[in-house]
Amino acid sequence: MEKNQTQNEFVVLSISEVSSSSSSTSFSKNEPVFARVGSGSELRFGQESESSTDIVFDLRTSQVFRLGPAESLCVSEAFEDNKEKAYSRGISIQFRNEEETRAFHCAFEQWKTEVVVQVFLSGSPLPNGAVSTLKSKFDEKIEASSAKMYFHYYGQLLHQQNMLQDFVRTGTYYAAVIENRADFLGRVVVDVGAGSGILSLFAAQAGAKHVYAIEASEMAEYAKKLIAGNPSLSERITVIKGKVEEVELPVKADILISEPMGTLLVNERMLESYVIARDRFLVPNGKMFPTVGRIHMAPFSDEYLHMEIANKAIFWHQQSYFGVDLTPLQRSAYEGYFSQPVVDAFDPRLLVAPAISHVINFTSIKEEDLYEIEIPLRFTSSTSTRIHGLACWFDVLFNGSTVPRWLTTAPGAPTTHWYQLRCVLSQPLYVMPGQEITGHFRLVAHKAQSYTIYLTLSAAVGDMLQTSSGKLDLKEPYYRMSQPQAYSLAQDQQPNQLLQNPDILTQPQDEDGSVPVQQPSPNPGAELHSL
Ligand code: SAH
Repeated sequence: MEKNQTQNEFVVLSISEVSSSSSSTSFSKNEPVFARVGSGSELRFGQESESSTDIVFDLRTSQVFRLGPAESLCVSEAFEDNKEKAYSRGISIQFRNEEETRAFHCAFEQWKTEVVVQVFLSGSPLPNGAVSTLKSKFDEKIEASSAKMYFHYYGQLLHQQNMLQDFVRTGTYYAAVIENRADFLGRVVVDVGAGSGILSLFAAQAGAKHVYAIEASEMAEYAKKLIAGNPSLSERITVIKGKVEEVELPVKADILISEPMGTLLVNERMLESYVIARDRFLVPNGKMFPTVGRIHMAPFSDEYLHMEIANKAIFWHQQSYFGVDLTPLQRSAYEGYFSQPVVDAFDPRLLVAPAISHVINFTSIKEEDLYEIEIPLRFTSSTSTRIHGLACWFDVLFNGSTVPRWLTTAPGAPTTHWYQLRCVLSQPLYVMPGQEITGHFRLVAHKAQSYTIYLTLSAAVGDMLQTSSGKLDLKEPYYRMSQPQAYSLAQDQQPNQLLQNPDILTQPQDEDGSVPVQQPSPNPGAELHSL
């Protein structure tokens, strides 16, 4: 095996272009050809001395495949002369024997790793949007088919519009940014999952020095257009198409802004991307908007909802449906319906105990801590009733240095496109006033960008303990609103949102500079707005 001490050079017997019309290369037949790492991230195929006829690939965008015992294919991204159109270029390489081929493949992977690590360590500027070719954390965790559907969904303007038209959401973000100008003025901002680019535009309005808007879906192209059409702000915004797990930025950010919340806060698993973005891009002690999130939970009683779900399975009770006995599937259908968390806006008077909450601090949580979330439950019933399950909602805090602000999705507060979520148990529990209800709520992340929910609630009856459990899939919610919902990630807004009074959002709150422990508008009890 002829390779030098640093294992940076391999002899190649023959080499040919796969895609070009003339498959031959212009190397001299009498001299050996080498595959070697050149300067920077170059993979160079050439002869003893460097020449313009060498074939040069960028390691970061190259891959090698074994075609036979001593034959390999090397594929890399290449550009037309005008640098606009990317295409793949492939060369087939013949080594002298199998052992050398294997050694080349090992070295290739090592070179690639070194190049990527070097880039990480030196923080050396890469062209905007450069994407690491190592399998990213995102790809390791998430099924490709799920990611494809997910980014297809967010690539469509209509879904971005639905979020933009959630006035509570967008208005609270606007207020949080503009009221806390001091946190943005002259700062480098990263918008994590920029979508249409709206939050980047807000940050630029607040005086950001530069905003990097990172968006993985095709929406990045629309964001570019939207931003270009706002010329007073566009000079200070760069849109980068790619995943936050993969793109490289030329500088560190002083502040991150993002809207990574899904149903029950954690659905879509985008909080993990937000935390990864923090670790990759944010300066130590940099700010995060939002800063903290809380999941709130309380037992509820809703006979009508329980009956509605149980009744859905009645179809399968039929013993002669066109002469076919459907009852063998009766149990499965029943379980299937109860495994769907219910998404709608409910009357907070259905809650039978004060809520408890689970805090997630985005500035300090480890990404892995979001894979499994275990929440012990303990409530005291305020009434005599039947409990049908656990109601959940969330809020997030923008801990601005001028005005801390909460965005809440609580029942009774102005409705958002997240509504609230209820996990309904097939077996209700009977409780008396003052009675303790215990249990646990466990969320286990899965590869389809969501969570399996395990819920158990218990309450004592005399000496006995009644316990009811359920397993639900957060990815398959039952949207219980009157209007049809397009897709399980549908984030459609309720019609009455457009009628809500924008002034609610700009009313001043208590401002003592400290983080409010209480959300500004918790369930206002009987003071319900129209549902
Ligand atoms: N910031 C916008 C969009 C929020 S929706 C707004 O507030 O209106 C979340 C966006 O993040 C979607 O457009 C989605 O495509 C994008 N996204 C989700 N995960 C991402 C990731 N890992 N990398 C880059 N973008 C991501």
